[in-house]
Amino acid sequence: MISNFAYVRARSVAEAVKALGTKGARLHAGGTDLMGCMRDGIFEAQKVVSISGLKELKGVSARPDGGVKIGALTTIADIAADASLAGKYAVLTQAAAEVASPQLREQGTIGGNLCQRPRCWYFRGDFHCARKGGDMCYAAEGENQYHAILGGERCFYVHPSDTAVALVALQAGLTVAGPSGTKTVKVENFFVGPDKDILRENILAPDEIITAIVLPPIAGSVRSSYRKIRARRAWDFALASVGIVLQYEQETVSKARIVLGGVAPYPWRAAAAEKLLVGKKPDSAVAAAAAQAATEGADPLRDNGYKVEMVKGAVEESILALA
Ligand SMILES: Cc1cc2nc3c(=O)[nH]c(=O)nc-3n(C[C@H](O)[C@H](O)[C@H](O)COP(=O)(O)OP(=O)(O)OC[C@H]3O[C@@H](n4cnc5c(N)ncnc54)[C@H](O)[C@@H]3O)c2cc1C
Repeated sequence: MISNFAYVRARSVAEAVKALGTKGARLHAGGTDLMGCMRDGIFEAQKVVSISGLKELKGVSARPDGGVKIGALTTIADIAADASLAGKYAVLTQAAAEVASPQLREQGTIGGNLCQRPRCWYFRGDFHCARKGGDMCYAAEGENQYHAILGGERCFYVHPSDTAVALVALQAGLTVAGPSGTKTVKVENFFVGPDKDILRENILAPDEIITAIVLPPIAGSVRSSYRKIRARRAWDFALASVGIVLQYEQETVSKARIVLGGVAPYPWRAAAAEKLLVGKKPDSAVAAAAAQAATEGADPLRDNGYKVEMVKGAVEESILALA
């Protein structure tokens, strides 16, 4: 049951930041994750601060440098359907189209998608796990078929966001508003692994708000894609996913970003695979070698070794499809 809370409808970002500065306040965008967390007792809120009425945080617009600004309240559905993003930023529109169900994409926002809490069944269930301040990660020895094969340390949840994978692949930035003004941060540096702080998933303070996502300009011949594998063809989180952005000169790859989802507590850069692709024409031998390199360092738990092969397959297929 959800305990009583005060509700504030902010009229500006500054008003929202101020309201979030009081103890027990929580930000509400589309509410699709927030309300579930409150209902499941993941956290309580004394005050819910809604930013859903802030029109300035909605929509996709071109930037003077040739890049794109996406307001944090833009819905996942709007991003998936945005024709101005579809070509150059295909990895993002494809990732957005793979999020949850049509209803959730209509209601959920990109800012909320990046800040949603873990979906680990122990964290969401009645377990006082390490991420809730307890002593242990129940997944380490328990039911861990959906958990991390990379980057898990004392906590093996996998980051649930599809769009985060695409945004790291695109080297996107975030604009963040807080009590002392506005700052920018790379999406890649936004997430916090369990090795750094087991109690949080990102760098935001309670009174900081993502106001926009900034996509850098894309010059030259760039191809990108997002491939997600899930247990069923209905709404579901990724068992594994891969976001790829490749820059070509003629048919040779000059720059590569390969980011994995569903396998680590944050979007995972497959740096060895990226390195292997640069300077090559991605034929089947190169794609197979990059796929092998993508899982370098993987350390599966008892029941999730299948993810290693799954990632390799997804990386290889994605590289060949782009070629
Ligand atoms: C059944 C189900 C299936 C799902 N499947 C998928 C899936 O396959 N892939 C996937 O990627 N996601 C999936 N999701 C997650 C869903 O996409 C998110 O719940 C949604 O994107 C969150 O957006 P929201 O606007 O509703 O956020 P809210 O619920 O309002 O907020 C979520 C969290 O983010 C914080 N927050 C929101 N906006 C901001 C902001 N601008 N700045 C700072 N903090 C903020 C809130 O305080 C809260 O903690 C699923 C969710 C459900 C319920």
